Amino acid sequence: MRYLDEYRDPVLARALLAELAQVTTRPWTLMEVCGGQTHTIVRQGIDELLPGGIRMIHGPGCPVCVTPLEILDQAMAIAQRPGTILASFGDMLRVPGSHTDLLSLRARGADVRVVYSPMDAVDIARRSPQRQVVFLAVGFETTAPANAMAVLHAAELGLTNFSVLVSHVLVPPAMTAVLTAADCRVQGFLAAGHVCAVMGWTEYEPLAATFRVPIVVTGFEPLDLLEGILMAVRQLEQGRHEVENQYARAVRRHGNDEAQRAIRRVFRVTDRTWRGIGTIPASGLALTGEFAALDAQRRFGVGRLTAREHPDCVAGDILTGTKTPLDCAAYGTRCTPRTPLGAPMVSAEGTCAAYHSAGRRRPATSRAAR
Ligand code: SF4
Repeated sequence: MRYLDEYRDPVLARALLAELAQVTTRPWTLMEVCGGQTHTIVRQGIDELLPGGIRMIHGPGCPVCVTPLEILDQAMAIAQRPGTILASFGDMLRVPGSHTDLLSLRARGADVRVVYSPMDAVDIARRSPQRQVVFLAVGFETTAPANAMAVLHAAELGLTNFSVLVSHVLVPPAMTAVLTAADCRVQGFLAAGHVCAVMGWTEYEPLAATFRVPIVVTGFEPLDLLEGILMAVRQLEQGRHEVENQYARAVRRHGNDEAQRAIRRVFRVTDRTWRGIGTIPASGLALTGEFAALDAQRRFGVGRLTAREHPDCVAGDILTGTKTPLDCAAYGTRCTPRTPLGAPMVSAEGTCAAYHSAGRRRPATSRAAR
């Protein structure tokens, strides 16, 4: 398939691996901060092919996984209100909240609808003036422009029955949180190509300079990832710490001006809780005062709900890279894609789901060892 096959060529992949082996003189630890990249790395076994002790840590890059439990519980509280329609992307429906998930609520009669664009939710509101329609607006900088456009469109239409439950998160503050953690082992990053297509990469330059880590804006196909890893390792070997762009076919230094304007018009930066990690200062987006009337938390008075994570789930350690899914006692037994205990097992971009679909299993414990 054009534009895909050329980034999956096994001959070129082997050549990149050989070059990587040639430039690597010691083990290095890199983190990718994108669930799509995690999925490709695990599905293609790229992490298992890397030479010279190069290790990939899978960072907090899955938007579904980092959406805080409180927001899910708030979405479920809203969905149970009579006369309400809750609209969401499909992968949010199976994410477990404190007590249940949106899919189970739908089976019990709540009007929970899957949409493919936030504009679809605006359209539902326009066609259902007697109902309150709430869109669950989650994700990184990548989805923020479309959600901002939906808010602007609803305001233009003068809809009083549309609101958004916002839980947007921002990548650079999460990278700062990873780098300032006491047990941080990350020496270089692959930055998410889609996020940088919107935001550019200037925000990453102070991070690279302050923490002396190479950051390579990287795409999602196997050859993108191998080249991004090679570029990061080459910097480490040469003692450089710069921002480089592997994903030049999609990303420009300053990103997409129009998308950024829409984000700035509709959202302001706020502290945000990341599921499994905790609150990271200035790491999220909330509606600006101009659009406060479209804030579902205020409209439905659900902002004070607190939540309880499943006690067996170590998603926070997975998302910060201090553990892998194979370190979780529930992985593959009590927690599977059909019976997820935590968000990383739900989304296709979640590390636990990626491990599970790639068939990764814990090494069998011998009888003697037991
Ligand atoms: S395997 Fe399941 S329980 Fe364990 S960390 Fe992943 S999502 Fe949580």
